[in-house]
Amino acid sequence: MLKIFRASIMHTPQSPFAGGLLASYEDGALVIKNDEIIDLDDYAKIATKYPNAKTHSFKNSFILPGLIDTHVHYPQIPVIGAMGLRLLDWLEQRTLPAEAKLADRKIAKKQAKIFLKQLARNGTTTALVFGAHFATAMEEFFIQADKSKLRITAGLVLGDRLLHPDLYTSPQKAYSESKALIEKWHNKNRLRYAVTPRFSVSCSDEILAVCGKLLAEYPDLYFTTHINEQTEEIKLVKEQFGAPDYLETYEKHNLINERSILAHNVHPSDSELSRIARANAAVAHCPSSNMFIGSGLFNMLKHLEHRVKFGLGSDVGGGTGFSIFKEGLNSYQVQMLQQNQLDLGSSHLLYLASLAGAEALGLDTTVGSFEIGKKADFIVLKPKAKSTLAKNLKYSSSAEDSLASIFTLARADAIKDVFVSGESVL
Ligand SMILES: [Zn+2]
Repeated sequence: MLKIFRASIMHTPQSPFAGGLLASYEDGALVIKNDEIIDLDDYAKIATKYPNAKTHSFKNSFILPGLIDTHVHYPQIPVIGAMGLRLLDWLEQRTLPAEAKLADRKIAKKQAKIFLKQLARNGTTTALVFGAHFATAMEEFFIQADKSKLRITAGLVLGDRLLHPDLYTSPQKAYSESKALIEKWHNKNRLRYAVTPRFSVSCSDEILAVCGKLLAEYPDLYFTTHINEQTEEIKLVKEQFGAPDYLETYEKHNLINERSILAHNVHPSDSELSRIARANAAVAHCPSSNMFIGSGLFNMLKHLEHRVKFGLGSDVGGGTGFSIFKEGLNSYQVQMLQQNQLDLGSSHLLYLASLAGAEALGLDTTVGSFEIGKKADFIVLKPKAKSTLAKNLKYSSSAEDSLASIFTLARADAIKDVFVSGESVL
């Protein structure tokens, strides 16, 4: 059946970093057949072209692509807002104790449901989710993720040192538990599996070798972990492994390829950037987390110069919430604070929040923009009548202006509905 969704529509069909422009329709219409986008144009033209389609009109509303979160932790809602700690103390004192609670399957189930609902309520339709250290918690997470209908890539988190001991695995256990989850969940409906060592600090070479073995056995798996987040962490990794740099500890086990997504990369060397680019791996840029736990300012210009792909990540709970709009605003602010900063506009932020995330996760032929043939993943944004956003939008003189207001002021309360493959998931 044909459906028309009418509102003000914006998307970025090509990267604004490569000269792409914002595509906008003030009174636009998106035409959906089953789960796919089959047309997009001004409403007047669409109405004539498809006279028998059912029209859903959203007044004073915007339709944007579903937002994409390239790095977010399922067990970490309880630690959002844990102030006063940098990475290694933040992990030790607040985060690892919270993650240990997911040994209880009932707690894991409850948290999975809450977590997935929060993604959807914030307009996130696709996410690469950093999982839990317990196979039962991941089994429960995948059950709930499948029910949520969101596009989720996730995996069991692996580590065997410098964690709380109840989070430790062994190479044998890491292999057998991961394999069982992969066999059951990878490529089931909208789910995919990512091999997920926590970070080199908490992984022996034996655990990283198991990750390499899994990727070799299942070549279409994804891989995600953390890299170059804080200077103390980088120093520790170099000491532990006697490695020239952080990336080498993963490269050694063949973990870096075009399906690898590395979170943070706030302090990379030029050599690491060029090797990440050569492997066509991606980076998850998590600006609110980088500020909140004091990691530093992401060098976007260097990532662009080296042609490294990157999307936005909320990094809940180091990050300050689920809103990818807020991450877009924070990424803008982080660039403004740096010398030689990039001149970002709202179209760059929309690209980072949608198509760039899809490119990072290997989903850009499926979602991320409103090109014909892509799946109909989109959000309907309607500013609350008396909100600052509603008042501010009255002064907007262009689509770019309106989009800048949205990134600055729109949060979950402005999201009216969320669609994945043309179906509401709220
Ligand atoms: Zn993280």
